Amino acid sequence: MVLNPMDWVFPVIAGVFGLLIGSFLNVVIHRGPAMWKLVHEDAPRGNLLAPRSYCPACRKPIPRMHLIPLASYLLLRGRCAHCQVKISARYPAVEALSAIFAAFAVMLFGIGFSAVLAAILFWGLIALTAIDWETGYLPDAITLPLIAMGLIANIGDRFASFPDALIGAAAGYGAFRLIAWGFERLRGIEGLGQGDAKLLAAIGAWAGWTALAPTVFVAALLGLAGVAIAHLHGHKMAAQTPIAFGPALAAAGAIVFTVFTSSGVPSLIR
Ligand SMILES: [Zn+2]
Repeated sequence: MVLNPMDWVFPVIAGVFGLLIGSFLNVVIHRGPAMWKLVHEDAPRGNLLAPRSYCPACRKPIPRMHLIPLASYLLLRGRCAHCQVKISARYPAVEALSAIFAAFAVMLFGIGFSAVLAAILFWGLIALTAIDWETGYLPDAITLPLIAMGLIANIGDRFASFPDALIGAAAGYGAFRLIAWGFERLRGIEGLGQGDAKLLAAIGAWAGWTALAPTVFVAALLGLAGVAIAHLHGHKMAAQTPIAFGPALAAAGAIVFTVFTSSGVPSLIR
C-alpha cells in the first residue's frame, strides 16, 4: 500500500477544523441544556457566544492560550489553572471525536459537499450523545434541525433517495413511538423518550428507511453491552432505572449511516 499525500493531507486539515468545532460543541453541550430550559440553573450559563469560556468550578475566565483544543487539556493535565479542580474528560473526548469524524467524513466521501454534510451529522450525533449522557435529554434544538438537514441533503438523492429519506423520517419517528408504547406496557413505566424517536427520525432522514431496522438492532446491542459493563463495574440497575438510550442510538446511527451511504471503507485503506 503506497500512501499518496492527497490521501492524508485533506483528512488532516479536516481533523484540525474538527478540533475547533469540537471546542464549540463543548460550549453547546455545557450551556445548551440550560439555554433550552431542559435543566434548571440558578446561575445562568449565558448563550453560545457570550460570556467567554470560564471554569465551571471557580468561574474564572479561561485564558485564550488555554482554549487550544486538546493540547491545553494535556498541558494543564486536566486541571483548571486557577483552582486546580479537575476538568471533565468530556472536553478532550468531544474535541478528539469531532476531529476524528471530520477526517473520517473526508476519507469516506472525498473532498466535497457530501463530506461537509456527513461531518455535520457526525458532530450533531456527538453533541446529542454528550448531552443525553449528562442530562438525560436529547434536545429538539439539535434533533429537529438534523431531521430537516437530512431531508434537504437528500433532495438530490445524495445519501438516500428522497422518498426513502421522507419515509425514513416518518417511519423512524412512528416506529420508535411504537417500540416505546410496547416497552411501557411491558415495564409499566415510560422508559424511552420522545427525543429518541426524533433521533431515529433524523437517522431515517439521512440514511433512508432501510437503515432504521439495522440502527435499532445495533443500538440495542450497544445498549445491552453498556448495561453489562455497568453491571461489571458494580452499578446496580433496577428494572425502573431509566436507560439513556440516546448515546447507543447515536453511535448506531453513525455506524449504519456510514455503511449504507458510502462504500464504508475509508480512502486510506481502499
Ligand atoms: Zn477553576
